[in-house]
Amino acid sequence: MYVVCRDHLERALDEFVEIYEMPPDLYELEQVSLTDWAAPTTCTFCDKPPKYLVV
Ligand SMILES: [Zn+2]
Repeated sequence: MYVVCRDHLERALDEFVEIYEMPPDLYELEQVSLTDWAAPTTCTFCDKPPKYLVV
């Protein structure tokens, strides 16, 4: 699972496909309701606020 900013979305998608060998589901963070999960406050690859969830 990756939580990434706009700049690193492509990298997250690439890595996901490499690791799991299937296309990921992509969500915008503000559109998913997070009940049991506190979203990370920074991108997986940098310190920017994340925008997308790749699972
Ligand atoms: Zn980033």
